[in-house]
Amino acid sequence: MTDCIFCKIIAGEIPSTKVYEDERCLAFRDINPQAPTHILVIPKEHIASMAEITEKNSDIVAYLFERIAEIAKAEGLDDGFRVVSNCGDHAGQTVHHLHFHILGGQPLALTMA
Ligand code: 5GP
Ligand code: ZN
Repeated sequence: MTDCIFCKIIAGEIPSTKVYEDERCLAFRDINPQAPTHILVIPKEHIASMAEITEKNSDIVAYLFERIAEIAKAEGLDDGFRVVSNCGDHAGQTVHHLHFHILGGQPLALTMA
């Protein structure tokens, strides 16, 4: 999608601090971190949100969660972390390309801004 910020990050048109990349996904640091460690994990395929997940594309969700576990380990989040995916207006989704926030590095409040 040409007007999608995260597709532009994948294409290298917008710079990002990459944490992990392979042929199916990209993980990079959030530009406005809400915790000491705040990483976004996204599929390279443009999927608007969790609401677009079907039996045809749900394998990417499992794939991303396998990477999330590895990234959390590599980042030293041994005391725990949170994974968040905002979906739609009521959840405050601002970028309409599926992404999972990894938050950690200190005890987290029960809600995320
Ligand atoms: P959402 O609110 O949709 O769940 O999360 C979108 C996230 O993307 C926000 O935490 C925001 O800080 C982050 N973000 C938006 N634009 C950029 C960008 O250009 N680069 C990076 N690294 N993060 C971004
Ligand atoms: Zn996109």
